[in-house]
Amino acid sequence: MPQDSPGLIEVALPVPLFQTFTYAVDPLIRVPVIGSRVVVPFRNATEIGICLGPASPAALPRKVRSIIDVPDVEPVLSANMIALCQWMADYYIVPIGLALRTALPGALAGATQPQPKRKTHRIVRIRADLPTLLEREKVFSRAPQQRAVFELLESIGGRSTLEHLMEKLSFSSSVLKGLEKRGLIVIEAEVVDRDPFATRPSGLPDRHSPTAAQTAAISAVTAAKPGDVFLLNGVTGSGKTLVYIEILKHLVNERGKTGIVLVPEIALTPQTVDRFRAVFGDDIAVLHSALSDGERYDAWLALKRGEKRIAVGARSAIFAPLENLGAIIVDEEHETSYKQGETPRYHARELAIVRARLEGAVVVLGSATPSLESWANAESGKYTLLNLPDRVGGGRLPQIDIVDLRRRGGPDEPREGPASPAYAYVIRDELDSALEAVLGRHEQSILLLNRRGYSSFVLCSECAAVVTCPNCSITLTVHSAPERLLCHYCGHQEAPSQVCKRCGGRTLRQRGLGTQQVERLLSDRFPSASIARMDVDTTSGKWAHAEILDRVASGEVDILLGTQMIAKGLDFPNVTLVGVVDADTGINLPDFRASERCFQLLSQVAGRAGRGPKGGRVIIQTRVPQHHAVVRAVTHDYVGFVAEEMEGRVKPQYPPNVRLANIVFSGSDARAAADLAVAAADWLRELLEKQQIEAVTLIGPAPAPIERIKNRWRWHVLLKSANAGELTRVSRYFMERFLVPANLRVTLDRDPVALL
Ligand code: ADP
Ligand code: ZN
Repeated sequence: MPQDSPGLIEVALPVPLFQTFTYAVDPLIRVPVIGSRVVVPFRNATEIGICLGPASPAALPRKVRSIIDVPDVEPVLSANMIALCQWMADYYIVPIGLALRTALPGALAGATQPQPKRKTHRIVRIRADLPTLLEREKVFSRAPQQRAVFELLESIGGRSTLEHLMEKLSFSSSVLKGLEKRGLIVIEAEVVDRDPFATRPSGLPDRHSPTAAQTAAISAVTAAKPGDVFLLNGVTGSGKTLVYIEILKHLVNERGKTGIVLVPEIALTPQTVDRFRAVFGDDIAVLHSALSDGERYDAWLALKRGEKRIAVGARSAIFAPLENLGAIIVDEEHETSYKQGETPRYHARELAIVRARLEGAVVVLGSATPSLESWANAESGKYTLLNLPDRVGGGRLPQIDIVDLRRRGGPDEPREGPASPAYAYVIRDELDSALEAVLGRHEQSILLLNRRGYSSFVLCSECAAVVTCPNCSITLTVHSAPERLLCHYCGHQEAPSQVCKRCGGRTLRQRGLGTQQVERLLSDRFPSASIARMDVDTTSGKWAHAEILDRVASGEVDILLGTQMIAKGLDFPNVTLVGVVDADTGINLPDFRASERCFQLLSQVAGRAGRGPKGGRVIIQTRVPQHHAVVRAVTHDYVGFVAEEMEGRVKPQYPPNVRLANIVFSGSDARAAADLAVAAADWLRELLEKQQIEAVTLIGPAPAPIERIKNRWRWHVLLKSANAGELTRVSRYFMERFLVPANLRVTLDRDPVALL
């Protein structure tokens, strides 16, 4: 605080209001500096806010309340982090207080617990030296047990956890108390760093020397200017991870900088994380989504203090409190999980670029199938394109074959052999023979079906009614073991009914295939094969993903079956077959990115095959073999796909040709939600006309493609503009001024990854 200030500070509070608040500094408590937390009275409660600096006395409200506490000695947010949050607040149209809270670990954001409790354990430490034998004899003459304990402690370095000591020796705690009373040892509490990744063996570091293409990429990045952004477009198996590692080695080990590595979902990429840990060991903090608040806080502190210099984690790791940042790496930059689904709806890739610019770091966006946005930025020269066109070690991309599911060969045409008609319908001959051959050679297969559950819906064969969720306009999925119908949006569950609720008909049929059903069919067909299923239902435990993948790595699993979870990052050289059971899931979704998603998923999963010397092949079953997403995936033609896909986004215009803000109106009353959307659209149209804003166009209002979720009816309006600044201005004006009744909700999603 500058001396001349009247003792007033500006505070950002995590409340849904587009403003900051003025408070008086209490001279009896610590004076807050910019970026430190302050506990303040707000309405009838207390809130934890962030001090943004001295307040200007001009905007003084009548009554200024005093702050209650300043819990931190050091600020929790650096000036750069505040600037990053300010950008996030401006761009995504969220209150600054909410943006700042997002950047902090949960343990620091709670209103009731200003200082997180840290886990401690008890440590026993030798306090007095007893160098001579004579002394020892004297001290312990009548306490042989004490001597035994003392000497054990000496032999293990003079300190130990209490727990460990008690395990080693069976003596009563009075022995330790006796030693403590005599001042020979101390027993004290010590803070434990809890890092679940620490107990996982990390393996040996990659010892490969980079190929020419890898070397070119590494040198380009290490010679870059602060703020430069690179798009590393490397085919699957081209060795992108080694490029990331070499860049970090250079920046962190040689130039003393720090780094952030973003991965789509850390649970799905234990292999990638292990490779970083093998090289950087204790320098890495792994920010796992399953960390408790306390564990996350430990990692946060270690990064802030510079004890760890590389943060690896999913999207929120972009807020890692590192100073002296050298590089931000965004692996699989096209992944939608980088976008947060709730306020603030930020995209970690965008924040990476902004943060790098603020802190003078470089950014590497890596992918085999870059997002169209990043590709366009590389083409326009905003990003520098780096190519890894070939697989390392002379490996080739796998051969991909198509099986047309429309072809006959279904249940009405049973084949010879052990397969049931249902199996033969689901896994066609080509895929079945390939699976059999791979099993025979003791190699491994990966099978993708991007739909969990047993069957995707239940249909009445008399009136054609489909069983839907009572809360959402979504069909219920059939799950087995135990058998139940489940809504994948709201979690609603019900027992399967024997009769149609609409017409009373008694012939209800299950349609559409899920992973549970494929697992059952496969295990009937290949009873001696070991099959692992990986989807949301089998991976609820903290380490479930890693356990399944470790079993695949050890060769214990013959067939890994799963949803899109299995398409990412896996590097198993013994996988020589990848099968896609049904490529069409999602391709017909009413969303402009549906084809892009399908192409990415097929390319990524195909990339899991043939990563070793044995080579590999891919078989894709589909009903739409001519769809450009399928055709281009088969020929490994990313550039061709992009050219076709871009054409489809010109009329009507879609990103990257234009930018979007999707405004969703929702409420439990269908009519009220619709009315609000109509009123908002009118309000916006009038604004655009009056202000003569031609750069922004408005589409809608219309019901959202999924009309109802969790009992809320949903409508939306879409703003489009090629001019980002104008889009921000209009969006902000709307969000700050348009009045929303208390029972309804408006959310704005800038750069949405889906419009559902
Ligand atoms: P990507 O992420 O591009 O799909 P990875 O980084 O997983 O590819 O690398 C694929 C495999 O190639 C890994 O097993 C890795 O150890 C190996 N590899 C990477 N670079 C080299 C190299 N220069 N020489 C030999 N093997 C390499
Ligand atoms: Zn539901």
